[in-house]
Amino acid sequence: MIPQANKIIGLPLTLITLFNTSLIAQENQILDDVRQVMEDSRVVAAFEYIDAHDEETVNTLITLTEIPAPPFAETERALAFLEMLNSIGVDDSYIDEVGNVIALRKGSAVNPNTMVISGHLDTVFPEGTNVQVQQLGDTLKAPGIADDTRGLAVLLTILRSMNASNIATDNNILFVGTVGEEGLGDLRGVKHLFNDSQLEISSFISVDGTNDNRVTHQGLGSHRYLVTFSGPGGHSWGAFGLINPAHVMSRAVHYFELAADVYTRSGPKTSFNIGTVQGGTSVNSIPANVSMLVDMRSESQDRLIEIDSIFHRSIYRAVDEMNGNRRSGDPLVVDIELIGDRPSGEIDSSELLVQRAMASTTLLGLPPYLGRSSTDSNIPISLGIPSITIGGGGIGVASHSPDEYYINQNGPRGIKRALLILLSQAGLVPLS
Ligand SMILES: [Zn+2]
Repeated sequence: MIPQANKIIGLPLTLITLFNTSLIAQENQILDDVRQVMEDSRVVAAFEYIDAHDEETVNTLITLTEIPAPPFAETERALAFLEMLNSIGVDDSYIDEVGNVIALRKGSAVNPNTMVISGHLDTVFPEGTNVQVQQLGDTLKAPGIADDTRGLAVLLTILRSMNASNIATDNNILFVGTVGEEGLGDLRGVKHLFNDSQLEISSFISVDGTNDNRVTHQGLGSHRYLVTFSGPGGHSWGAFGLINPAHVMSRAVHYFELAADVYTRSGPKTSFNIGTVQGGTSVNSIPANVSMLVDMRSESQDRLIEIDSIFHRSIYRAVDEMNGNRRSGDPLVVDIELIGDRPSGEIDSSELLVQRAMASTTLLGLPPYLGRSSTDSNIPISLGIPSITIGGGGIGVASHSPDEYYINQNGPRGIKRALLILLSQAGLVPLS
């Protein structure tokens, strides 16, 4: 765990920056500490390197973007990313059992902690999506270019700049490309990292997207289900009286919507959504199967569990009622399959990693703000491990859409910010 000696009492830096910063300068130990890191000659050199090699960063971004990484098919991009890390120079590297790329840059402490900086390898786009980058002036257009190929390119430039400037850290740093961050990937890469790998990770920074003044320290949790209602099916006239799965699903949705609507009108924000409904054969057939995809989210883990139980109760109530009332044939069977489980949670804003991220943002001339999102950090956040998600700089627009594009405006600033947060957290070994 990280010592808390330097924390600012109670006041997050956002609030502090609203007041006159100089008035509380003596209290502002963290800002001073981070400034000291930023003014270290090696870090100055690394910043210069980031500026001087920005074209290389953009070229790397293009190269990686053009390697497809659909959900559950990240291998080709993983191999390329691993190769790039190796050619820059790391102490160890491998692809783990689930496909995460892991590269170690050793720390110098006697018993170093190990921290992670990561980006996600996967995109939301299916196999066959055209991922060629179109350059229109300063705009780079391609699906996945900002979310999160930008994060991968940022990691590589950070590593390059650290090696070029002979930066030594106290802690081990793992440069990680995760699989399965998006959608039905359900954070499987980062879940493996924290639940099943033997790695002991003391803190975690995810570089995801581009925003360079937000610090996400709260995880937005979600539960997702595929619900399938199955009955015997038959002719709409000849077999009339058989249980009808479409009718049962409709009644279930009706009960769920009534109760969930009341529940979500007060308290910490909680949402519910029937995203797709499918099934049936023809207008004159009683369907044998119908199904729906359901998404529920909440800022609060307790409320996520509560709306989930409203959802389950509504389905079982409809199924029980209608099986009990059926006129003929076998009863209906319902299958409720959990296809997404992301925990909610938050890291206290007084935590050193959060404060260092806020200070780094301020020192790079941007007003920082705190946020909540659903990212790889959800998992370590739910385990109480200091974790944040930050953007990698530049401007990303229309993520998760085929029209996604990236503008490299102030791109280097985002990389410097990520590096500064990383070094403040990893501990810069003093020049001897
Ligand atoms: Zn992302």
